[in-house]
Amino acid sequence: MTYEILKPETLQDAFGLLDTDDPMVRPFSGGTALMLMMKSGIFSPSRLVVLRDIPGLNGIRLEEDGSLWIGALTTLAELEKSDLVAQHAPVVTHALRHLSNRRVRNVARIGGALAHGDPHMDLPPLLSALNAEVIVEGSNQGRRISVQDLVTGYYETSLESNELIVAVRIPSQQSWQSAYRKFTARSADDWPALGVAVSLNASRNEIQDLRLVVGAATERPTRLEQSEGILRQEGRSGLERATEAAMASVEFMDDAHGSSQWKKALLRVELRRAVQEILDRNT
Ligand SMILES: Cc1cc2nc3c(=O)[nH]c(=O)nc-3n(C[C@H](O)[C@H](O)[C@H](O)COP(=O)(O)OP(=O)(O)OC[C@H]3O[C@@H](n4cnc5c(N)ncnc54)[C@H](O)[C@@H]3O)c2cc1C
Repeated sequence: MTYEILKPETLQDAFGLLDTDDPMVRPFSGGTALMLMMKSGIFSPSRLVVLRDIPGLNGIRLEEDGSLWIGALTTLAELEKSDLVAQHAPVVTHALRHLSNRRVRNVARIGGALAHGDPHMDLPPLLSALNAEVIVEGSNQGRRISVQDLVTGYYETSLESNELIVAVRIPSQQSWQSAYRKFTARSADDWPALGVAVSLNASRNEIQDLRLVVGAATERPTRLEQSEGILRQEGRSGLERATEAAMASVEFMDDAHGSSQWKKALLRVELRRAVQEILDRNT
């Protein structure tokens, strides 16, 4: 396998190198996902465009409106250790502690974690529940895509080949509380068989607004809109009905992590636990 590794020093140069119809040309952030695919023979690149020398893609800052701006090249370990993230989006800090192992977290970047499109990921459903968006730049113009709309299918995203995620924005979580429950078939830091992310704007039993997202058991992070409607109307007393609606509406997939029937049963337990966990904090 021969391929070129190019290291542009500006975004414009990177766009030029990526602007091709060849699907074997890819941006390279931490390389943890790409290297796995290359080693297993699933992906044979013709060109890897390494993003690490491009300035302005690192760091985490709190914006004036209370949102968190996270540069696309921020490693998952930096995210895990960030005081700003712990203070303003603590559910992310907790989830990262069980996202793979320290060696992977030291190398993998948030941009790569969101652009990969593998359904078995923790951050896409979680950041979708937090209503986060990715800030995307391309050779022509930039745009913002909600994390919920970023992954469109099994390893498919709405990114064009010459577009890059340059940052992630998590809106202010003031008055919102969140929980993420990850269920693995093996060790606690394994890839999830099911991930359930819940964000609630609630006081006692009353739920003003909410976002429920299931990942890993489905081809792409899936919003549980019917269940959201039930909980919005009925509060805690609607939990059983909301869980039933989720199980009926989601298309689960069979894979090496477990059968669709098993994942359906897991969703029943984990969705209820995640919602209850937050409501119990408020009583
Ligand atoms: C052993 C192991 C265990 C793992 N366990 C888990 C787990 O439990 N939970 C979990 O969520 N994940 C897990 N992962 C996956 C891991 O989170 C991803 O491999 C990692 O987040 C990808 O980030 P990266 O920077 O290495 O991406 P890369 O490998 O560099 O890229 C991944 C994809 O994104 C594209 N890309 C990269 N950066 C950008 C950008 N800025 N803009 C547009 N496209 C871009 C690349 O072209 C490629 O298609 C595991 C990985 C390994 C190797």
